[in-house]
Amino acid sequence: LLPVGVSVLLIGVTTLSFVFMYRSLAAQRRLSEMKNGFISNITHELKTPVATVNVAIEALRNFNAIEDAARTKEYLDISAIELQRLNLLIDKVLRLSMFEKQTMELQPEEVDMNALIKEVTTGMRLQLEKANARVELQLPAEKIVVQGDRLHLTSVIYNLLDNAVKYSPGQPFIHVDLQKGDGELIFSVRDNGIGIATTYQKKVFEKFFRVPDNDRHNIRGYGLGLSYVAHIVQLHHGSITVHSEERKGSTFTIKLPFAYEQS
Ligand code: ADP
Repeated sequence: LLPVGVSVLLIGVTTLSFVFMYRSLAAQRRLSEMKNGFISNITHELKTPVATVNVAIEALRNFNAIEDAARTKEYLDISAIELQRLNLLIDKVLRLSMFEKQTMELQPEEVDMNALIKEVTTGMRLQLEKANARVELQLPAEKIVVQGDRLHLTSVIYNLLDNAVKYSPGQPFIHVDLQKGDGELIFSVRDNGIGIATTYQKKVFEKFFRVPDNDRHNIRGYGLGLSYVAHIVQLHHGSITVHSEERKGSTFTIKLPFAYEQS
């Protein structure tokens, strides 16, 4: 027989471990439900551009493209836009599967960050015009070069800018800043959008997390972009933080060492 104190302690410890087990099972179930939701949503979204391009090709087949140049151009433009959307969606799915398998490996090279930021914003020109967005770049006169993975860093910059546009309904005004810090670069993207309540600011970097308010603003997404960004920044031994105020806007700041030891 165990003394009463020890028995009570044992019961307490057992109850606690059940509570922890239950919590972690519930969290796992929630993650798996979110994943299933993501897969069915994305499958639906993948089908839409394919169907639209099919319709456009069918239409091009059915009339004389040479005689109706304006209509031909319209259908080709639609197809190009839809294919670009498809490409972004495929990119998201690939990223998710890489995430799952934990096989994300960096391919480091010297990356000129001033040039990369300009490249990404230029590539987003159409998207920015469509959203009526204004982007102000504040880049230092001297080149800032980091040892990093060019492809992933491109996606990191793209994701932050894409969010800044997406979460700034009306007239997005986005300020992009690059500076040289002590042994590291400081890159930030500031917007004048809906902002993020303090309670959610840490959570936005978690996989599949989306601020519940998004529905009210009718902004779609999967809650994967920022967790991907945070993961890439961490692989580069950097850090990411957010400062935000509801209805005023958000600033995401990334600090990256100029070079890092590969682990
Ligand atoms: P997604 O945009 O696909 O939902 P993210 O991982 O990029 O996924 O972002 C997670 C959540 O963080 C978003 O759903 C949104 O609620 C919030 N968020 C991200 N960027 C911003 C921003 N610039 N302004 C306001 N909220 C943001």
